[in-house]
Amino acid sequence: MAKVYGIDLGTTYSVIATLNENGMPEVIENYEEDSRTLASAVYFQEGGDPVVGEAAKAQAEIEPERVVQFVKREIGKPDATVRNFEGVDYDPIDISSLILKRMKEYAEVQGNDEVKDVVITCPAYFGNEERTATKQAGQIAGLNVLGIVNEPTAAALNYCCREFGENRKIMVYDLGGGTFDITLFDFCVDDDGKATIDVIDSGGNDRLGGIDWDARLYDYICEQYCNENGLSPDGITPELRAIIMRQVEGTKKLLSKKANHSINISYEGDVSRIEVSAEVFKERTQDLVEMTMDFVRQILENNSMSADDVNVVLLVGGSTRMPMIKEAVESMFPGKVRVEDPDLAVAKGAALKAAIECVERVMEKSQKSGNGGGEPTNGEGGDTGYGSDEDMPSFTQEEAEQLQKIIPQKVSTVSDKLSRSFGPAVWVEGNRFMVDNLLFVGDDSPSEATETYGTMADNQAFVKLTVYENVGKDKVNDKHVTPTYDENGDEQYTDPALKVKKLGEVTLELPPGIPKGSPIKVFFRCSAIGLEVKATNPDTNETVETVITSENTKTQEEMNEAIKHVASLKTSSDF
Ligand code: AMP
Repeated sequence: MAKVYGIDLGTTYSVIATLNENGMPEVIENYEEDSRTLASAVYFQEGGDPVVGEAAKAQAEIEPERVVQFVKREIGKPDATVRNFEGVDYDPIDISSLILKRMKEYAEVQGNDEVKDVVITCPAYFGNEERTATKQAGQIAGLNVLGIVNEPTAAALNYCCREFGENRKIMVYDLGGGTFDITLFDFCVDDDGKATIDVIDSGGNDRLGGIDWDARLYDYICEQYCNENGLSPDGITPELRAIIMRQVEGTKKLLSKKANHSINISYEGDVSRIEVSAEVFKERTQDLVEMTMDFVRQILENNSMSADDVNVVLLVGGSTRMPMIKEAVESMFPGKVRVEDPDLAVAKGAALKAAIECVERVMEKSQKSGNGGGEPTNGEGGDTGYGSDEDMPSFTQEEAEQLQKIIPQKVSTVSDKLSRSFGPAVWVEGNRFMVDNLLFVGDDSPSEATETYGTMADNQAFVKLTVYENVGKDKVNDKHVTPTYDENGDEQYTDPALKVKKLGEVTLELPPGIPKGSPIKVFFRCSAIGLEVKATNPDTNETVETVITSENTKTQEEMNEAIKHVASLKTSSDF
């Protein structure tokens, strides 16, 4: 049977899952490393294939200049680091594509099946550019990316497909290697027994995760080492640092299981024995735990809820294996905390989402062709991209019907919410332009909106539609956000509070002689796969459209080049 796949592309570890013949999500083993996860690290050995996984991660201590890690923190962001190996530039999108390619390769060997149709997960707070960049990484790896789904949503879906039941409010507390996400969901079952999972709200910090706990443990071990050996902190040489660093993560994981652990640090012929207790580790990281709990309190407060209103709290992400996390969450939500598969749940949920998405799209397409070939279901001008061929699953209708038979039928809709607001810059007066938000943070994803504007002057030759992203939440107060041009006509699109960011622009040529105030229809549609923008002259029906990409993602030309280059490489797990 044809398969779909879900991928959790993590900051520190990544996981790939699929559905078994009973429709249950299963993680595909990274068999060469005897692990169900893959370290998100790439080592560029001289003159050989890129090495991805634990061996690459370990090599970071020896040849840090040839190992790239934690790229998820930079993907789709301005000023992302570009590294050059063997004359080829690699940005975070390229590095992510190599991690995805490694997973594709080992999953193909394990499952004896081509890995093609996937859903990839990302943190809930990722904006349009980070999502587009993640999708591009998948495409470069040779994958057909059906969608990008929020990690907490995937975890909630995985839980709800198993633990069906009555309506409830679910909180997902997701602490991974480098990021922290908190999301509130509403799980609702209707009279027909069909369920929907809706995001109520989300928050988090993209600079808080397991590596911060590692850093505290490293500091503590160094302190102990210095005390024992009468050394000042300046006495820690790079070599000694590497020796200690190598012990840190393993020690942290052991302290999740036992009260004490002693490590031996052997350096320049001497061996120092350092004792670390779980209690001291907890003391040294209490403020980090509190930082996460502040987000929990904040999200409850923002939604006028108390801990009593939440029915279940799911702990997701490898770092929630630390007992101190469970204790802190349990103390606020007694008896409501569930810890199941914390580092695998997201990939499993993504596989379920891929199956739901695949069946829905193939069926929708077959219905459309059945009713005369192409009645649009979305937007006002035809297919808008969500169901366009580019993102269609590679499934035949027959294969989709087979898949439909096995997937858990009960959860029919899983809606993500937009993590950003979007709007064009519109002229207000003089030289002043404001962003007129059409789509808002918290709207369902996909969402779309149409607005008609007037031209600014007689005989206007063209309309330049500039598209902005921001975090304005309030539909009334944030409808019009910051001027995009100041009184002097200078562009100024950085409002630190609303994080206004220019995403791109399209230009619609106009016929000669049209009067001021002539209508221009503008259409925005945002889904998990990107933002589509159209501008139409209703008199001529002339339309320009674009799927917004930006400087922080790749152009079509760069994509073609990267696809060709990555296809010529083979990744390996060792060297
Ligand atoms: P994720 O991004 O969800 O894969 O989480 C990876 C993070 O979880 C890394 O920082 C790991 O060190 C951490 N982690 C995994 N297992 C454990 C464990 N048993 N105890 C503490 N931290 C862990």
